[in-house]
Amino acid sequence: MGIPTLGCECEVCRSAVPGTNGQPPASQHNRRTRPSVLIAWPAATAAHHVVIDTGPDFHAQAIREGIHRLDAVFYTHGHADHVLGMDDLRPLSFHNQPSLPIYADDPTADTLERVFEYTFRKQDRYPTSARVEIHRVPSTPGAEVDLFGVRFLRVPVTHGKETVTGWRFGSAAYLTDLNEIPAESLPLLTGLDVLVLDALRRQPHPTHSTLENSIALVEKIQPRRAFFTHMSHDLDHEATNAILPPHIRLAYDGLKVNFDIAPEAA
Ligand SMILES: [Zn+2]
Ligand SMILES: [Zn+2]
Ligand SMILES: [Zn+2]
Repeated sequence: MGIPTLGCECEVCRSAVPGTNGQPPASQHNRRTRPSVLIAWPAATAAHHVVIDTGPDFHAQAIREGIHRLDAVFYTHGHADHVLGMDDLRPLSFHNQPSLPIYADDPTADTLERVFEYTFRKQDRYPTSARVEIHRVPSTPGAEVDLFGVRFLRVPVTHGKETVTGWRFGSAAYLTDLNEIPAESLPLLTGLDVLVLDALRRQPHPTHSTLENSIALVEKIQPRRAFFTHMSHDLDHEATNAILPPHIRLAYDGLKVNFDIAPEAA
């Protein structure tokens, strides 16, 4: 929902409201825009840029991170908090010849085509709509997309009644919006340096993982480091980090993490 959550006066939400004279909020880390990551490589030049998910905050996030060009966009699933910023790819996509590739599983591609029908219709397309082309990723676990020497692998995860898509790239995996990881996906998650994982709150939720369940998943998957994401206002940044083991941290807006994306990355 983003934090501060609209209409909420709880302590975490209040700590995330910016001051009236442009002062930063009391807790910069409790100010949470909708989940998304930018992946840039190789380390020396950061010539290639890929984004996973473009939620309603994509415009502000792209300005914050100085995104001028994208080579591709990957999607996890079609929920509003992950796709509604797709239209803001318009000015970026005009730099891509012939188009900016979008990688999505079938249900997500169907949602994008429905929500942004004017962008994808074959005839009478809106003249300045985003120059994007959807590439449908097979539902098979480990289905692969190769980009500039980096393999992106589809990791199916359970999000309530739906199976949605997590992505593994090199020694990192981004698994947002899940309450379970099916056994068939576990072999795709071995030898991780960095695992980004959904941890919504402490109370059970039908489609998201709890803090406790996510800690157990980290113990099972054994990445070197884990970063939790998609937290609700139930989890205060400092107070939660204080009780987590040192190799598990709550992620925050603007967090940067270095990892090996691929030995052959060019
Ligand atoms: Zn709140
Ligand atoms: Zn979702
Ligand atoms: Zn979500």
